Amino acid sequence: MNDKIPEKIEDKLFSIKYKTDAHCHLRPDQSKCLQCLEKTCTIICPANVYCYNETEKKLVVSYEKCLECGACRIACKHIQWEYPKSGKGVQFKKG
Ligand code: SF4
Repeated sequence: MNDKIPEKIEDKLFSIKYKTDAHCHLRPDQSKCLQCLEKTCTIICPANVYCYNETEKKLVVSYEKCLECGACRIACKHIQWEYPKSGKGVQFKKG
């Protein structure tokens, strides 16, 4: 096994850079989140962008660390999804 290849996803995410857009490109319909039992977005996102705050009954979206993979867009039809403005968002080193 190659020691230089990170094993955990957190180690892989550490090598990624972001140019944060002031505009949030992920907009869930919070009224639907309240009714949703599965909260699939909190499970499916590899970057842990979504976190449901039980106290405030609100989905917290840390869009700044989004990988733009589109998984949440497929998993939930109540998330309005668009790419960040040109030049903003995730910056992959090797791709
Ligand atoms: Fe997470 Fe991918 Fe959705 Fe970004 S596009 S929030 S990385 S699931």
